[in-house]
Amino acid sequence: MIIAVDGPTASGKGTIAKKLGEHFGVPHLDTGLLYRAVGRQVALNSGDPDDAADALAACDFADTLLEDEILRSEETGSMASRVSVHPDVRKALFERQRAFATQPGGAVLDGRDIGSIIAPDADVKLFITASVQERARRRWMEMTDRGIDVQLADVEIDIAARDARDIGRADAPLKAAADALVIDTTSFNREQAFETVLEAVQTALA
Ligand code: C5P
Repeated sequence: MIIAVDGPTASGKGTIAKKLGEHFGVPHLDTGLLYRAVGRQVALNSGDPDDAADALAACDFADTLLEDEILRSEETGSMASRVSVHPDVRKALFERQRAFATQPGGAVLDGRDIGSIIAPDADVKLFITASVQERARRRWMEMTDRGIDVQLADVEIDIAARDARDIGRADAPLKAAADALVIDTTSFNREQAFETVLEAVQTALA
């Protein structure tokens, strides 16, 4: 069983995908982390994230980088969004994601193009979204809880810029697959969001 969970940044898709993995007893892959590792590696190489060759060279990152807390920073998220526009980067990361998706027993993957490119054959495709304002509020609260001093308005600007880049890119733009279940979590808390998603997945699998 493959469950594809796509959606924009800070939509809650990561938490939902992780919980789905636990619920169904299948492994979960946060594919954004792979793009974040490439973005971070470009910075470590003193490369240019907007340069296709520099970004491709950074796909050779060491697996230990995936454990680095710095990957969770907004700065790395923004670098990830810049390297992810290059088709060669997406190609370089494809096999790893596809192998994860097709492992025996199934998997849950979250990202931007799971239902469309990585696992078009997924048993269930979800597109989790929420308004820009609500996603900014959630990300701001998360950052404030971690002791990061940041303005809500700046987080909102950053999220809107990331959306525009992810939606506007030519290769694998962020958009719901035609057969995805679109779930808007703007007015839900975490528990309500997961309950709604679980019900939708169970109905789809039945
Ligand atoms: O989901 P997360 O915010 O960690 O992703 C960081 C960036 O990586 C996204 O803004 C997006 O540009 C890129 N990404 C992607 N395809 C994926 C996962 C992430 O292009 N499957």
